[in-house]
Amino acid sequence: MIGTSYGAVLDGMEGKVVRVEADVSAGLPQFTVVGLPDSSVNESKARIRSAIRNSGLEFPRGRITVNLSPAGIRKRGVGLDLAIAIAILRAGRQLAPRPENAAFLAELALTGELLPLPEALRLTDACAEKSLPNVVVSHLQRDGEWLLNQATWQNATTLLEVSDWLNGLGQLTTHRPLPPKLKRHEACDMCEVENLTFAKRGLEIAAVGGLHTLLVGPPGSGKTMLAERFVTLLPSLPPTHAREVVSLLHSFSNVDWCSATPPVRAPHHSISSTGLTGGGHPIYPGEATFAHRGVLLLDELLEFNRSALQSLREPLMERQIRISRAGQSVLLPADFILIATSNPCPCGQYGFGVCRCLESERNRYWSKIAGPLMDRFDLVIAVHQSSSIQKFPVSMPEKSQFIRSRVSEAKAALSAQTRLSLSSTRSRLANPSFLVRSAEIAAALGISRRGLESVRHIANCIAVLDGIEVPGEPQLLEALQYRNPQIR
Ligand SMILES: [Zn+2]
Repeated sequence: MIGTSYGAVLDGMEGKVVRVEADVSAGLPQFTVVGLPDSSVNESKARIRSAIRNSGLEFPRGRITVNLSPAGIRKRGVGLDLAIAIAILRAGRQLAPRPENAAFLAELALTGELLPLPEALRLTDACAEKSLPNVVVSHLQRDGEWLLNQATWQNATTLLEVSDWLNGLGQLTTHRPLPPKLKRHEACDMCEVENLTFAKRGLEIAAVGGLHTLLVGPPGSGKTMLAERFVTLLPSLPPTHAREVVSLLHSFSNVDWCSATPPVRAPHHSISSTGLTGGGHPIYPGEATFAHRGVLLLDELLEFNRSALQSLREPLMERQIRISRAGQSVLLPADFILIATSNPCPCGQYGFGVCRCLESERNRYWSKIAGPLMDRFDLVIAVHQSSSIQKFPVSMPEKSQFIRSRVSEAKAALSAQTRLSLSSTRSRLANPSFLVRSAEIAAALGISRRGLESVRHIANCIAVLDGIEVPGEPQLLEALQYRNPQIR
C-alpha cells in the first residue's frame, strides 16, 4: 500500500513542492528515506516514529520506504516531518487519502505537537502555485499570515488533530487576517538638519529620479544626518511593493517589518561582499536585497573593503543579483537607491578648507571606487555649511512631509510623461539645443557618456520638480553642480 502527501522545501531561495510517497511492505522493520534527503531529513525518522506513537496512532510494522520527489532537489531541514508522517499513516490505512490538494508544512515534536517553520511563507507560495491552496501548518505559525494571497493556512495543534481532520472527525482553524493598515514609521526628519539647503535640494532631486547619490564633505558637515534622513523624502510604498518588501524581510530576517516607509539598510563598513550582495551555502540574500525598493546607506563609503564595493556593480547596473553556486542559480531582487557619504580626502578638507594631503594620497584615497563604480553615482553633492546657494535662502528648515509631497507629485508627473522605463525617460529629452549644449559641456568637463546621460536625467528631474515642461540651460547648469567633479 502506498500513501502520498505533499510538503515543500527550500531550494536556495525558492520554495519547491515535494511529493512524499510512503510504501509499507512486509519484512523486517526498517525505515528508509530516499530522494536526496540530507542528514537533517534522515534524523527526522526517529522524531516521526515517536510523534506517531505518542499521538496514539499506530506506526506501521514492516519495511517502510519513503520517497521524496523530485529527486533532483536536495531536501534539507525539518519542514517535511508532517508530510512524511501523513504519507506513512496513509500507507498504513489509518488516514483517508483526501483531500489531495492539501500540503503539510510543519516540524513534529516527539509529543506529536506541530511546530512552526521560519520559511513557511515562501513554501506556502510554492504550494499555491502548484494548486495546493490548503496548507496545514502549526497553530504557532502566525507571522506574516496576512501576506498570503493565494493560499490559506489551516492551523493545527497536534498530529492527532490533523489525522482527525483528514478522517472527517474534526475541523482545523482557519484565519483570514486582514492586511494591517501600513503606516509610515520615521525616527527622524529633514527639518532637524539646519542650513545645507543645497544638499537637501540635491537629495530631493535624487528622491524624484531614484538616483544614486554620494554626499561628500568634511567631518562634522552633516552628511551622515542628511543620508539618514533621505528615506523620509521618499513616497510611501504602493501596496504591491510593500507586500514584496514585508514578505522578503519576514522570510529571511527576524525583522518584524510592517511599514509603508521604504526599507533602509545601513551595514557597517566591515561587511563582506557576501554580506552585502548575498551568497553562501545555502544561498542567503545580502543587505542589497533587503534594501530592495528602499535605500542602501553606506556611511563612510571608502572605509568599506574593495571587494564588497565592487560586488555592488551588478545590482547598481541590473537592479538584481544573480548568484551561482554548486549548480544552484538564484536571482535576488536588489532595486535600491544607493546613498553614500565620504570625506573628500584623507584629512577631510580638500575642496572645503586647507587640505594637507598630497595629490597622490588623494588619488589613492579615491582609487577604491574609481572608474565604473564612481560613474554609478548620478549625484555627487558637496555638503558644507557654506554651500547654500543664493537661490535657496536660509530659512526655517522644511519638514520632510512637505518635501515628500513635492517628490510624490514630481514622480507621478515623471511616470505620466514616460509610462516607460528609466532608459526611455532619458531618451525622451528630444530638445535638440538641450542635447547639443549638454554634450558640449560634457566634452569640456570630461564627463563620460554615462555621466552625460545622468546629467540629462538630473536636468529632467529638476524640470519636473519645478513644473517646467522641457529642461533647458538653467536645469542643465543646476544638474552639473551635482556632478562636482573637482572633488573626485
Ligand atoms: Zn586632505
